[in-house]
Amino acid sequence: MTAIRANVHKNEFSGIATQAFSKCLAIDPSFFAYNSEEYTVFPGFCDVHVHFREPGFYYKETIRTGSLAAAHGGYTAVCTMPNLNPVPDCRSNLSLQLSIINIDSVINIYPYGAVTVGEKGEKLSDMESMAGKVAAFSDDGRGVQSAEIMNEAMLKAKSLGKIIAAHCEDNSLLFGGYIHDGAYCRSHGHKGISSESEWKQVERDLDLVAQTGCAYHVCHVSCKESVELVRQAKKAGLNVSCETAPHYLLLDENDISEDGRFKMNPPLRAESDRLALIEGVCDGTIEIVATDHAPHSAKEKSKGLADSAFGVVGLETAFPSLYTGLVKTGVISLDRLIDLICVNPRKRFGLKPEKGFTVWNLNEEYTVDPGEFLSKGRATPFEGKKLYGKCHATVLNGETAYKG
Ligand SMILES: [Zn+2]
Repeated sequence: MTAIRANVHKNEFSGIATQAFSKCLAIDPSFFAYNSEEYTVFPGFCDVHVHFREPGFYYKETIRTGSLAAAHGGYTAVCTMPNLNPVPDCRSNLSLQLSIINIDSVINIYPYGAVTVGEKGEKLSDMESMAGKVAAFSDDGRGVQSAEIMNEAMLKAKSLGKIIAAHCEDNSLLFGGYIHDGAYCRSHGHKGISSESEWKQVERDLDLVAQTGCAYHVCHVSCKESVELVRQAKKAGLNVSCETAPHYLLLDENDISEDGRFKMNPPLRAESDRLALIEGVCDGTIEIVATDHAPHSAKEKSKGLADSAFGVVGLETAFPSLYTGLVKTGVISLDRLIDLICVNPRKRFGLKPEKGFTVWNLNEEYTVDPGEFLSKGRATPFEGKKLYGKCHATVLNGETAYKG
């Protein structure tokens, strides 16, 4: 075997990734092309928050297109949110989703099970029957409004040894808002979403965690108050983690224009929120970056800020945007970025390391063109941005999931 001269990024998975790389060299000699200092090989990335829309909303995304997009972004594992039709809220609905995953996915997919029946927030799902097959439990897409139901869910999840991953949003504080209730919103006559609608529910849930001892994860933290609440909860020794997404770390309300590709939930917040999130990443309060990849049809995203659907795609821009915006600028190290998108998510959610790797040219600069995405979704706030880092291959168990 010819020695691999590509720069294999050092961390605990690199041994496994190198094994997979060697296997690929044996199967496909064209991988010898990567034996150069031009390329960096990382273990496959892991995203604990994506929406692949199948079953139920095939026109937005499928397991197939979502997994291809993930591989294009360097991911070999993702966790899919349960806002589907049917909602995976019992063993049979979950089995339907798992059967599609088995046939169509080019990477590893670990579904979430819903916390409540139909994600309606009224009655606990059949968590017990799903526990062995799901990454964790979540009603993502909406907050669990009832503290009593959340309390019950936490007790159940704790007994099953599972995490509750919460989309925190208090519906009583929304008032029809659709972008952050800040300077841009007011000067352009829009309806705002307050930060309070997020952090009030984070605060409520952390109180419940203190009472129940449940392992708890806050999805897509977007405002400074939420970061501080999680920081204090960790200091108090609670079993708590949180994620944020690349767009909250790299963009804020000053980047918004009148276009549906700047509309997601939670919204892009103020610069002070963005800086607080970066501080949270730097001090370890935020240990996971997930994409909240949320594809919609072109039509659904074409109706401006007020009327477009909430959600943007993220899998195919996550690594390059974070590498360009945080690593090349010296805010965090490349090692820290790999921890955030690869090592920590697997650790927290108990996902096994895989024989997977992804090959990147970190010096390649290009302009983001959503027409090149493998996702069906094309709405991204990073459209037109100049980024560094291009994925040239992603391989799982010796099989090529993406090759550029
Ligand atoms: Zn959400």
